Amino acid sequence: MKLEALVKSSVLTQPIYEPGKPIEDVARELGLDPAGIIKLASNENPWGPSPKAVAAAKVALEHGELYPDGGCFALRQKLAAVHGLGANQYVIGNGSNEIIELLGHVFLGAGDEVVFGGPAFVVYKLVTLLFGAKAVEVPLQQWRHDLGAMARAITPRTKLVFVASPNNPTGTANDATELLAWARALPEHVVAVFDEAYAEYLAPEAAMDLRPLIAEGRKVIGLRTFSKIYGLASLRVGYGFAGAELAGLLNRVRQPFNVNAIAQAAALGALDDREFAEKCARENRAGLMQIETGLRGLGLEWVPSVANFMLVKVGDGARVFGVLQARGVIVRPVNVYGLPEWIRVTVGKPEQNTRLLAELAVAIRRV
Ligand SMILES: *Cc1c(COP(=O)(O)O)cnc(C)c1O
Repeated sequence: MKLEALVKSSVLTQPIYEPGKPIEDVARELGLDPAGIIKLASNENPWGPSPKAVAAAKVALEHGELYPDGGCFALRQKLAAVHGLGANQYVIGNGSNEIIELLGHVFLGAGDEVVFGGPAFVVYKLVTLLFGAKAVEVPLQQWRHDLGAMARAITPRTKLVFVASPNNPTGTANDATELLAWARALPEHVVAVFDEAYAEYLAPEAAMDLRPLIAEGRKVIGLRTFSKIYGLASLRVGYGFAGAELAGLLNRVRQPFNVNAIAQAAALGALDDREFAEKCARENRAGLMQIETGLRGLGLEWVPSVANFMLVKVGDGARVFGVLQARGVIVRPVNVYGLPEWIRVTVGKPEQNTRLLAELAVAIRRV
């Protein structure tokens, strides 16, 4: 009997996630010097983690022989103090991607439906399909979530609806007041998941505040990550915050030691350095403007972004991606998101943005 005959059908048809290529892979494949390569492909923070996070991680590493605190007690306490919520309202994950999977464990099975935007973060679809549920993709309207159409796409079978604001790969956000009103009007039988991976890049008045909805007992959850503005993508730590009942269900289905101790310590250190995060947000806004100015000079179209990345229309996205990569600049092709004419670029340090723009000028001229 073939092994395949034993495998769940949802696994055989599961699409494969294509991550941004690591610098070492590109260097090896193309025979380039890794020192000359820049990666602007995965929305990582070019400023790295806060020195406070690094120092805390080093201390934790000295006790690598011990299992981590499976309950992430200190991190949940700290987050609770920062946000004014209860420590029992958090679930900490191996990246916020894990929380998306935990939502699948708790809520999804065959016959269930999940509503999200198209294009939106591809992990929503991957998790939906992995649990044998049906993905209901609602096209964006002018690059933003079409909240009305998303509400209309909800059926009695819908369990989850995902909204990323700012959204990936578009970098656009929906209006915070509009999002809250929309969430309040959702039917009782759906859980609304607000993915706030890039929320710290928004101006404070533009960020949505889910806490009143949680206090009202609504079925909502916010997802946050230490991978983006906190510069800790490598350590894999993110979290969900919700009502205590929902947080408890998600905690019930996770692995006992899903978040390692070094990541927990680094996340605690990162939360102690608010100034660093604010500096990164300021630098990012300057970087967005630098890239916009450069693109205007090149006569290229882009989608105005409020995140730390941007969609740029380059004609043949796969070709331009390839030329850029051969010249040592790794960006993200977005054909998997149904955007073959575009690439997604992460905002880098000023000198990295300059390099990106210079190589882009070469790439778009080489037809
Ligand atoms: C990067 C990103 C995340 C974060 O993923 P982690 O698993 O925390 O690294 C979550 N949602 C979106 C939309 C993202 O772009």
